[in-house]
Amino acid sequence: MATMTGREYLDSLRELNPEVYFFGRRIPSVVDEPMFQPHLHAAALTYELAHRPEYQEIMTATSHLIGEKINRFTHIHQNTDDLVKKVRMMRLLGQKTGTCFQRCVGLDGLNALYVTTYDIDEKYGTNYHERFKNWLAEVQKKDLMPSGAMTDARGDRSLRPHQQKNKDTYLHIKERLDDGIIVSGVKAHITGAINSHEILTMPTRTMGEEDKDFAVSFAIPSDTKGVTFVFSRQTNDTRRLDSPLDAGNPKYGIVGGEAIIIFKDVFVPWERVFMAGEYDFSTELVETFAGYHRSNYGGCKVGLADVVIGGSYWIAEAHGIDRASHIIDKLTEMIAMAETCWSCTLACSYEGYKTPSGAYHIHPLLANVVKLNITRMVYEWMRLAQDIAGGKIITLPSEFDLENPKIGKNVEECFVGKEGFPTRDIIKMLRLIENMSVGAGLPEAMHGAGSPAAQKIMIARRGNLKRKVELAKTVAGITRDKEFEKIIGKDETAYWNEVRENIKKRREVK
Ligand code: SF4
Repeated sequence: MATMTGREYLDSLRELNPEVYFFGRRIPSVVDEPMFQPHLHAAALTYELAHRPEYQEIMTATSHLIGEKINRFTHIHQNTDDLVKKVRMMRLLGQKTGTCFQRCVGLDGLNALYVTTYDIDEKYGTNYHERFKNWLAEVQKKDLMPSGAMTDARGDRSLRPHQQKNKDTYLHIKERLDDGIIVSGVKAHITGAINSHEILTMPTRTMGEEDKDFAVSFAIPSDTKGVTFVFSRQTNDTRRLDSPLDAGNPKYGIVGGEAIIIFKDVFVPWERVFMAGEYDFSTELVETFAGYHRSNYGGCKVGLADVVIGGSYWIAEAHGIDRASHIIDKLTEMIAMAETCWSCTLACSYEGYKTPSGAYHIHPLLANVVKLNITRMVYEWMRLAQDIAGGKIITLPSEFDLENPKIGKNVEECFVGKEGFPTRDIIKMLRLIENMSVGAGLPEAMHGAGSPAAQKIMIARRGNLKRKVELAKTVAGITRDKEFEKIIGKDETAYWNEVRENIKKRREVK
């Protein structure tokens, strides 16, 4: 079976030597760096669960390319059932990690490029799709994790890529050679970048003809010469270096361990280039990717909601308030919101369709609705979690104070709850709620996979207002209603004339 275990994944990263910086210093080993470990563990779980018999159906698939059983994170969706299993996999991993497990961005990049390279070849007679499939087969055989590097640094947002004073604010082709291309530029906020085997790049926006050097997509190993990563900071991130108790989710961390990727005169051989100047396909690639990724949020974030709802209920029990009607009401609200998002993501998977490439795509309108709901509802269910847990989530003393021989006992007594609930467990749960509801997870729900304005543009574009106007005009009787005429057995105008005549007669009789 072409799948690694979680441990094998971690070991496989040792074979790479990417140039990674954090806190202004070069990190000698990604796997051994304590700051990175929770993120690595979360990604490792996407490998480990594929070996659990009870999760095989969700976590694995049979490759249509290599005919082997593969991890679903490298699979090209072959039907709507695959799309549904994908979001089930995401809810499951959200439930198991309580955070972002990172590997979905690469999965969505694989599917978006599978669809788009096919369409580019159809129009231009290029061979991007074949190249892409060859590279994808290697990804599937070796069970690699590619990061999906889409967002450019973007500089002055009012200018197009070719108008930027500093061209490196967008990744671009500097030179075209016989055997490949030379690229430079910066990708920002790239999830799971430092612990991915490969970097899969895609353009970040619609490009015009003058931007054609910026319409570029390729894959390279993460330790390719000229590539540098700078790991980002998150709220309370260094707590994990001080105390597992204070960290909140010491096993899996918080959000996806994002990084900036700097490309400086990087050589990419042609066999790894999947778009090089076809600017008229940049919109298709961006929108296909965004559609896949936005649909995910009703899976992963709902998995996180399951954890925070469970934690809130447990804390209410520990505090002896679980039967209070306002607590039950808040928990019910949280469940209803989470399941609304889940229903939406299931709907956009079941409503998926086959693209000319053979890969299945989600329903784009519904996917954008999923993500727009997430940008609001995550804040709301996390607000209710904070409400239920109480102010302690931001006033708890540190683990060091609990362990201090002089004051530790008094500190612990402050947080005693109902009998049967160990005080240390109460603190653990409060810290988890703090980690999930106060930190970087909230803006991640807002901006990951695109900000709300981006979803609204897509919803407005695909909402088909004209069709809705037609429906309203028909129901209002402004335009002809053929079905209604069949029922009444005559022309609608004649029918209403008769109705009016009858009303007139009835009024005259009175
Ligand atoms: Fe996957 Fe969700 Fe993280 Fe995106 S935010 S990479 S969909 S877990």
